[in-house]
Amino acid sequence: MSGSWRIVPVIAALVFANVVQSAELNVYSSRKDALIAPLLYKFTEETGIDVNLITGKSDALLSRIKAEGQLTPADVFITVDAGRLHRAKKAGILSAISSGLVDKRVPSHFRDIDGMWVALTIRARPIFYRKGNVDPSEIAQYEDLAENQWKDRICVRSSNSIYNQSLTASMIEAEGEKVTENWVRGLIANLARKPAGGDTDQLKAVGAGQCDLAIANTYYLGRLLTSKNPNDQALAKKLGVIWPNQKDRGTHVNVSGFGITKHAKNRDEALRLLTFMLSDEAQSYYAEINHEYPVVVSAERSKVISGFGDFKMDTVNLSILGERNSQAVRLMDRGGWR
Ligand code: FE
Repeated sequence: MSGSWRIVPVIAALVFANVVQSAELNVYSSRKDALIAPLLYKFTEETGIDVNLITGKSDALLSRIKAEGQLTPADVFITVDAGRLHRAKKAGILSAISSGLVDKRVPSHFRDIDGMWVALTIRARPIFYRKGNVDPSEIAQYEDLAENQWKDRICVRSSNSIYNQSLTASMIEAEGEKVTENWVRGLIANLARKPAGGDTDQLKAVGAGQCDLAIANTYYLGRLLTSKNPNDQALAKKLGVIWPNQKDRGTHVNVSGFGITKHAKNRDEALRLLTFMLSDEAQSYYAEINHEYPVVVSAERSKVISGFGDFKMDTVNLSILGERNSQAVRLMDRGGWR
């Protein structure tokens, strides 16, 4: 009996020490290592919480979390595009985040309606033009790209891209199916070539003079402008940015986002990481790595993206783009966007 009196506190101390030492967090991220790892190091440095990072394709990670079920080691799921975040929500792998601080830092349209995910950064998808070939004042909105004068002059990637699906979904939400379908038909009739490649390829095609206009996310121009390859830089300098729909709904934006899994074992640590990522400093740093916009208004924008100018963003709740995704995909198919 007297022995156990001694043993119990020792065991308690060991267990406690073990808990403290093993504070950890498992993050599944579709963002490349280089984009997310530096920030996670900072988090560990600041909090002592070890982070295990697994990166992969978004849909593969989602399937993995689903297959792992209750046993999943994943506490956090990070991916890009509201369409994919919505997919995770629908797959039932996420749980609601409830935090007054998060609500204060992140505008409501950049959070899931049911709190299942929170945006970390914003990416804008404006129109790019070839300087000298296009008078930017001739295009005020995405809708203008369907006009006859741009025949054989536009480059855009395929409708398989979730970026284009979300853009189309945003137009359906604002203008309805009929207007959007007509727009798709007009846009496709104006293409300089069949949709192929990624956003970078569209920008390079504009730079090389194969087309005069393209739709792409701004960070792809940021990458070209800061590329070590002087040819990329030279191409990028031929491009200008048009911020469409400034007089109505605003330019289409999308996000990278953060979810806490349904079966997270380290919820507190997950919430701590989210809070950390929403600090002004982490926001500026994280956004700058990929030339994105901080989602927290008070965080500073990088020099590169500040150079693209200020613009009004579409404030549609991004959950709606996820909900309208399959409608957008069907509409694009009907309109001939391949
Ligand atoms: Fe991208």
